[in-house]
Amino acid sequence: MKIKQSEFVISAVGPSQFPEDGIPEVALAGRSNVGKSSLINKMLLRKNLARTSGQPGKTQTLNYYKINGDGVLYFVDFPGYGYAKVSKTEREAWGKMIERYLRGREPLKLVLQLVDLRHPPSAEDQRMYQWLSHYEIPMAVVTTKADKVSRSQWPKHIKIIRQTLGMPGHVPLVLFSSETGQGRDELWSLIIKSAEI
Ligand code: GDP
Repeated sequence: MKIKQSEFVISAVGPSQFPEDGIPEVALAGRSNVGKSSLINKMLLRKNLARTSGQPGKTQTLNYYKINGDGVLYFVDFPGYGYAKVSKTEREAWGKMIERYLRGREPLKLVLQLVDLRHPPSAEDQRMYQWLSHYEIPMAVVTTKADKVSRSQWPKHIKIIRQTLGMPGHVPLVLFSSETGQGRDELWSLIIKSAEI
């Protein structure tokens, strides 16, 4: 997709702040530090639209980015999970907000779950995956930081990730690197198809 323009729209604290224009939404979830901000910036060819490594996991908001002006597409950035310093109350608030969004959000077309290619998915990654499967939300797994694993090792790492998450073969997995741009075209193709844009 040709990116002509992208802008940050709102940090929504709740459904009353979600946009009401019905534009398709692609949500991004993953643990803090997985490379979510870097992926958003790479997809949108922006240096610093999404903040990288500020205060990981601290914000309990859904951040909306509008792509190519009115009527095309939103990226919706979930708060990063798995941040040790977040209290139980905050964690529960996070869960409630995400659950509400996932269950009831009509314009939601696709959730990208980001996991680090280097490591087996954590217990929280597994929970997130199960949650998405449970609600039957169209999803894909994006394995980040592919440049940090040698190509010859990619198949082994992918196999471990698919097995640990219990991903059926039909659930797409995209290898991605914000450093090299690996997977960017493939991910855009998937987004365009899923969002029907
Ligand atoms: P977030 O907390 O998920 O938004 O993660 P960030 O995008 O802030 O990235 C966390 C750290 O990983 C930063 O130091 C990034 O520079 C680094 N990082 C993110 N993506 C990649 C990648 O594809 N390759 C490499 N080598 N580093 C990455």
